[in-house]
Amino acid sequence: MKKYEVVIVGAGTAGLMLARELGKQQCKTLLLDRKKNLLDISFNTLGSFIKIADFGLTENVVAQKINSIIIQAKNLQEHIYVDAVILDKKKVHEELIASLDKNFVDIQLDVHINQIHQNSEKTFTAVSDKNGNSYQATIFVDCSGTAGILSKKVGLQIKNPVLAVGVEYNVKYFGKSDEAYLLLGKEYKGGYGWIFPLKNQRAIIGFGTFDETMVKGLKERLNEVLQLPNIKKLVEKDNEIVEGGSIPITPVLDKFVIENLVCVGDSVSQVNPIVGEGYKFIFESAIMASEFIVKSIKNNSIIHLSDYEQTWRKRFLSNYKRSKIAQKRIFSLTKSDFFVKLGIFLLKLRPNKKNASTLSGEYF
Ligand SMILES: Cc1cc2nc3c(=O)[nH]c(=O)nc-3n(C[C@H](O)[C@H](O)[C@H](O)COP(=O)(O)OP(=O)(O)OC[C@H]3O[C@@H](n4cnc5c(N)ncnc54)[C@H](O)[C@@H]3O)c2cc1C
Repeated sequence: MKKYEVVIVGAGTAGLMLARELGKQQCKTLLLDRKKNLLDISFNTLGSFIKIADFGLTENVVAQKINSIIIQAKNLQEHIYVDAVILDKKKVHEELIASLDKNFVDIQLDVHINQIHQNSEKTFTAVSDKNGNSYQATIFVDCSGTAGILSKKVGLQIKNPVLAVGVEYNVKYFGKSDEAYLLLGKEYKGGYGWIFPLKNQRAIIGFGTFDETMVKGLKERLNEVLQLPNIKKLVEKDNEIVEGGSIPITPVLDKFVIENLVCVGDSVSQVNPIVGEGYKFIFESAIMASEFIVKSIKNNSIIHLSDYEQTWRKRFLSNYKRSKIAQKRIFSLTKSDFFVKLGIFLLKLRPNKKNASTLSGEYF
């Protein structure tokens, strides 16, 4: 059996970016995914504060540029001026797949990993799939997203993290193409909404919740949202195709490495708590992890893997903690229109720059 330097479980956001970086460093990598087609994606657009050129992506992946995020509640609006984008998720993944160095990165699809094996020295020696096939490497990486197939087994992620769940429709859009909406208030009954404009007078309207008791009937709730007078002015549903998924929102973790196992992405809650931005934060984490994985392989020592955690903590931990506090405040306030009004009033008093940085999850 072929032994790789690195086996990555999961070829989503984190796995693809990590595989691209490892390939660049000529690291023999195997990327495994349970999907049969990596472009079989559950929802297609993402809001992001990413600077795409920083991650070697082209303008092709941008579905729309956004200059303003409108926080909207019943009879109330506040514009926050931002420099953001709506990403076309499929195109992002297509570009990442095309950029993998095929001399160093192998991909195997339809492989559902369910076990990780350790020797008597506690070193991880292989992962294996549902059919009993095993895959050996020097270093293993869990990029399996909310499944956390390895992170949960080794105790780096709790078994049942709280998930924010969302559903979306692609609809006709009558608003401005550079304005996205965050919809808050009692009308959303424990949830919140978003409108992401696309090209050609289309938009994505989504509805999500952090409240587990609200998860059932989410699609019906989104249909109710579409009937709200403020929303009817902005969008019109003309199809029944609903997309959706979940993001881990608790807890904020800062331990991602055990022995020769490294975790990146939603498998260890690396998504920004405030707006659920995964792409920017997870891309950065994957690039960071690649540096220390390559160092460990070159020096034949896993000691460097813990530097990934240290570097991550310096870059993200205080931001994450502040975002987490802001998230709790925002979502406890949004259940009452009075508190939403108060929140919007307070936003108006703060400089735009401060509001924009809170939304983006970056505090300088
Ligand atoms: C409704 C919704 C809206 C979102 N909106 C935004 C947004 O606007 N902006 C933003 O930046 N982020 C957004 N996110 C978050 C973002 O999509 C995620 O944070 C990001 O995709 C996580 O990347 P990941 O690589 O960790 O996991 P994923 O991209 O989920 O990839 C995990 C991969 O692992 C594979 N896998 C899982 N289990 C196994 C297994 N046992 N064996 C083999 N393979 C396995 C899966 O098939 C998948 O391909 C949103 C998420 C949701 C659900």
